Amino acid sequence: MLLLAVGLLAGCASAPAPHLSSLVYRIEATETRLSVEIEAQGAKPARWYLVGESNLRVASGEQRATVKGGVLRLPAEHLSYAYSLKSRLQRSQSLERGAGVPGSFVVRGDRYLLVPRPGILLPETRVELRFKGLEPFLPWPCVREGEEWVARLYANDLRQLGFHAFGARRRIPLQLEEGARWEVVLLAGDLLASDERIERWIQEAAQEAARLGAGSPRERVAIVLVPTPSGEPAPFGRVLYSEPRSAAIYVGQRAPERSFAGDWLATHELMHTLHPRFDGQPRWLSEGIAAYYQCLAPIRSGRERPEVLWRVLAQGVATGQTEALGRSLQEVAKAMHTLPAYSAVYWGGALLALEVDLEIRRATEGKRGLEHVLAALRPRGSVTLREFGRSVDALAGVAIWEQIRRAHLEGQALRRAKPLLRGLGIGPGGALDSKAPGAKWRLRLERGS
Ligand SMILES: [Zn+2]
Repeated sequence: MLLLAVGLLAGCASAPAPHLSSLVYRIEATETRLSVEIEAQGAKPARWYLVGESNLRVASGEQRATVKGGVLRLPAEHLSYAYSLKSRLQRSQSLERGAGVPGSFVVRGDRYLLVPRPGILLPETRVELRFKGLEPFLPWPCVREGEEWVARLYANDLRQLGFHAFGARRRIPLQLEEGARWEVVLLAGDLLASDERIERWIQEAAQEAARLGAGSPRERVAIVLVPTPSGEPAPFGRVLYSEPRSAAIYVGQRAPERSFAGDWLATHELMHTLHPRFDGQPRWLSEGIAAYYQCLAPIRSGRERPEVLWRVLAQGVATGQTEALGRSLQEVAKAMHTLPAYSAVYWGGALLALEVDLEIRRATEGKRGLEHVLAALRPRGSVTLREFGRSVDALAGVAIWEQIRRAHLEGQALRRAKPLLRGLGIGPGGALDSKAPGAKWRLRLERGS
């Protein structure tokens, strides 16, 4: 009896849990609709997930069920449903759930593609996205196979599907650093600025980000430009941590040509492609790195004069100090949307990034900087703050991180502003003092050497 029980237990323990051998999505993209069919093989997923979606009706043969709170309880190997963009494009545009015009739009992949729970997938599970109708543009390259465009993914890719664009009006060629083959598409919609001006604008921002790749830029970044009725050149954008990275940026249809020269948003967004995903989401770190480089990158490329962008940083820091009201950077980051305290988080983080860059350069006689830390971390899927700190110390060759971390994260947010900026010869309004003790280091930050 005992032997039998042990045998049964052993049998249970060694029986392989069912896993999917393949998962194939067939998507037909028409003017305002994405019709999706999913075929799973090897197991029957009990639940499916669709981020932030409710009321989507899904069929499996005769069975019907509705997605509630992002979850579909419909054990099935075949699913079919339609994701309609009609009202989303007419009334409630968002980069998340649908933006653009009929026949030329963008949507987040995880907002329209149901995915099974990760545990049912194996690294070798075959995942295919097969498209018909409007031409797709994804984080992954698509190959044409007869009537279809096909993207073959790893199971892990289903965790972050990036932006999916359909029916782009134009592909914009980019000339970047060696090893960077980034792609840009522009969706349909009349623009006051010429296509040539848009091309130059996105080329400059992409090139500045690729150059900061410290000799190993990301191989691919997929960028979608979405015309929107605005007078600003780029009113909003977002980068998703798919692998490869995926960016969507609104372009103002009424923005005059000349306004694109002073745009910082595209630069900021593309700077997010430099860093890894940070576990635990310390927004001050990712936003701080992007805000810091949004100032530094155009100085390094010669697109903007140093005094203009150090002034942007100094003014951002001053606004951040007002917003923080004595709270710590951690506290303002947690309550960033409710306070609101965006400047405190972005520019508080930018000061930390500036000090990390400066101290690594001091320790390595200018040979290394923050961009080298980010390059070393880039192959990693995600990174904790502790791992980031370890990489900073490893690159510097001495332990500098703990002191910087405490100075920026303990006590009042942005309290390092005055000594740090004054030391570099950057006055409160951004006026530059070339006689300041650290002025030569400011010049080295500007040159990146
Ligand atoms: Zn950002």
